[in-house]
Amino acid sequence: MNIAKNYWLHIFPQVYCCIKNEQLLLYHTQTGAYMENNTKEVVALMQELHQKHNLGAVSIEEKQLDTAPYKSFIAEFIEKDMGGLVDSSQEKPIQLMPVLNLQRDIEKLQKDRERFTGEDVLHYLLELNIYVNDACSAQCPLCTTCFRQNMCCTSNSKQQDLSKKMLQNILAKTQHAPVGKLNILGGNILQYAHYEELETMLQPFKERTHLWLHYLNIAKAETLFSGYKYDIPVTFPVNESAFSACVNRLSKEQATFHFFITGEEDYNQAEHLFSIHAITNYRLHPIYTEMNKHFFEENVYLTKDDIFSNPLSFCEIFAHQKLNTNFFGSLTLMPDGEVYANVNSSALGNITTDTLLDLINKEMNDNTAWRKIRSEAPCSGCLYQYLCPSPANYEYLIGRPNLCHLT
Ligand code: SF4
Ligand code: SF4
Repeated sequence: MNIAKNYWLHIFPQVYCCIKNEQLLLYHTQTGAYMENNTKEVVALMQELHQKHNLGAVSIEEKQLDTAPYKSFIAEFIEKDMGGLVDSSQEKPIQLMPVLNLQRDIEKLQKDRERFTGEDVLHYLLELNIYVNDACSAQCPLCTTCFRQNMCCTSNSKQQDLSKKMLQNILAKTQHAPVGKLNILGGNILQYAHYEELETMLQPFKERTHLWLHYLNIAKAETLFSGYKYDIPVTFPVNESAFSACVNRLSKEQATFHFFITGEEDYNQAEHLFSIHAITNYRLHPIYTEMNKHFFEENVYLTKDDIFSNPLSFCEIFAHQKLNTNFFGSLTLMPDGEVYANVNSSALGNITTDTLLDLINKEMNDNTAWRKIRSEAPCSGCLYQYLCPSPANYEYLIGRPNLCHLT
């Protein structure tokens, strides 16, 4: 009598599985290897394997292993190190599959009003961007456009300065929050009425403070505070002699150059600049102008290769399910006291009337930015929903929920 031989088919805990619209994606969070399948039998098998009570392992008959569609699927599954097969005479190889359980799960915290309204929420504040003024005479053509897409200085005709008292208050509150990054921006911060006093006020935050000064403004700066981190926006076309003066001015400081690129011509000039000045610490930020759709489609829209180019950890995938990793934890204070979780959303309140705790609580409740995830179609029905980066300001300004070539 032939007794059918069985095996345990088990999946490794480092493999992320997504099943949508009868399509399967398996993704190895350490190697970045992935496999996709849309055959009914294979999708059903993986669904069963992920049933809670099965603990990542199901029994499979030997004859199935030799039959389509299982045969090629299981061969690839083992070859890509997604899991294994064990003779069923051995103990079931149960797997402790990771579950989404962020340490401070926001929804849980929201239910717990007592904790939620307490000082605990200050721990969510990771980055504070303070615009101390809005005056600047540089007249860069894309001043407002850059600021709405990336961190950058911005000016307007209000000519407002953040009051010294307001700045002192917010810095005092920040001292007790785990704010890892404090960005000080303007306008041109050199024109801030209390610029000279800033050095003393920022002293306790020196290690985590970034001073943002456009290259055109820094080129003319008389006094710079030493020992701070400088972030230098560079908009195009670049005035090369002013840029050289800026590079010389910063020769003894830690500086990161931010090139705001609208097309190939800007990119070529940026490449020329960082090569002749031997600049290695730079970032390139594409800027959407409504006239450069093609440039964006070519250089910013995601392809499948982009999505799978670098392994993502389970933590990163889980974070994409709950948080917007671009905006979470960041607040922006403008010189008129208005505070935003994203400068493209409505203000959360004003620092003259609301406390930092009020403002963080408001964002946790209203979700103007921090928890905006890929929850809209077509992303909500896409297998790569949580592998793709969180939505950025580009999606918002271009008016499309997905900047990719996949749908
Ligand atoms: S230097 Fe900055 S604030 Fe001034 S105009 Fe240019 S982008 Fe705007
Ligand atoms: S549809 Fe959305 S989730 Fe899918 S690949 Fe495009 S951007 Fe990513």
